[in-house]
Amino acid sequence: MREIYMDNASTTFIDKDILKSMCRCYKKPFGANASSVHSYGILAGDRLEECRSRIADTLNCKNCDIIFTSGSTESNNLAILGTASFFKKNTNKNKVIFSSIEHDSVLNIAQKLCEMGCIVEYVNVDAYGIVDIDDLIAKIDKNTFLVSMMLVNNEVGSVQPIKKVGRICRSLDTIFHVDATQAVNNIRINVESLNVDMLSMSAHKFYGPKGVGLLYIRDKEKIDKIVFGGEQENGLRPGTYNLPAIYAMSIALEKAQSNIKNDKYFELSKYFWIKLIEKIGCVKLNGPGILLEGKRIPNIINISFPGVRSESIVTMLNTYGVYVGSGSACSGSYINPSHVLMAMGRNEEEAKEGVRFSFGKNIRKKDIDYTIKCLVEIISVLK
Ligand code: PMP
Repeated sequence: MREIYMDNASTTFIDKDILKSMCRCYKKPFGANASSVHSYGILAGDRLEECRSRIADTLNCKNCDIIFTSGSTESNNLAILGTASFFKKNTNKNKVIFSSIEHDSVLNIAQKLCEMGCIVEYVNVDAYGIVDIDDLIAKIDKNTFLVSMMLVNNEVGSVQPIKKVGRICRSLDTIFHVDATQAVNNIRINVESLNVDMLSMSAHKFYGPKGVGLLYIRDKEKIDKIVFGGEQENGLRPGTYNLPAIYAMSIALEKAQSNIKNDKYFELSKYFWIKLIEKIGCVKLNGPGILLEGKRIPNIINISFPGVRSESIVTMLNTYGVYVGSGSACSGSYINPSHVLMAMGRNEEEAKEGVRFSFGKNIRKKDIDYTIKCLVEIISVLK
């Protein structure tokens, strides 16, 4: 059976060459503990710092601004809880602002923040999944120590006006954390020009390995540790270094950032959208207009087939060998509507209909043709 992987926003398969060079890092000398003071350890430690430097050059920051983590979930937790701990201890500020379409690794921190005595507010988004700057301006104040917002939404691919938000935060001395997890393949990430103070990413979203990521931190004086152990990463992220994965991430990041091919993906997403309308007709795009460069990334296309639950489509596409995702999650027999689509103004039923097609670097027109052919058959059965 033909197999087409269109779930790259969930994770990508590691680049073959990167995997090869990563495997070499498990052997002597680099497989040694990068903190050890013997010869192998020194060589491993040197390689670790080379990786840090490669990443810092790519992101335009200082080497010491990069903290290695296990991925964006951990980076987001460290950024938000570490900052909250510092500000609650040392200042009277107690407000945190998220957008209403953040990933669960941000949204689910809210309860802990409330237990710490913080107030959490949420910025609204418009019908296309883009944050409402006026709503942010209405909610942010001198009491706000942190704003956390994603650069690209993982369900609908909308791009947030991060530079603008960064300027607003700076004017009020508010720390600005950005979850850039879904942005690395499509947007040049220069932490200076983006006006951010902290930024998270996960290597497995850009053809690196799983279980490794980073947090960029501009000012480590304003963040407390949340995990306790050794002195690695200034004590902010203790634990033995995963050098093979860090090495692979540094190469994958450099490759992704020097190889952004939005034109190719916009061409393909336009082709996909036009074919969908031509062959199926009644479809709805969730997110910014298909060609709105700057407002969306072209690799994530979220489509509703009105009246049909996303789970049915995802499951049936699977039987045809087409692997896609959806934003709504099943818990038992109940299907949770997508919080992103709800925030965009869809009702509960509509928020269970979003199917996410996310293109990877090997996608071809004939894969799209096959997917459309399968969808035509599936929709005619399900409707
Ligand atoms: N933020 C966003 C926007 C994501 O898409 C994801 C992964 N789906 C995460 C955070 C969490 O990343 P990880 O699972 O690698 O920790």
